[in-house]
Amino acid sequence: MANYIGDNNKKQVHDLENIKDNCQMDEIKLVHRRYFIPDSFKQANSEGYTSCAWCIENFQK
Ligand SMILES: [Zn+2]
Repeated sequence: MANYIGDNNKKQVHDLENIKDNCQMDEIKLVHRRYFIPDSFKQANSEGYTSCAWCIENFQK
């Protein structure tokens, strides 16, 4: 089970352990979903994904 999932369309990354209704996961098409190796926020961020404000709020300081 992955901890983070990327939305290829919006270039956004979500924290699966902290998913909120506002993340609208159902709206992310399967083809737009991607996982990261290694499975970390840092990796997602280095690939140009921005943090979702709902589930990764204030992650970066
Ligand atoms: Zn989210």
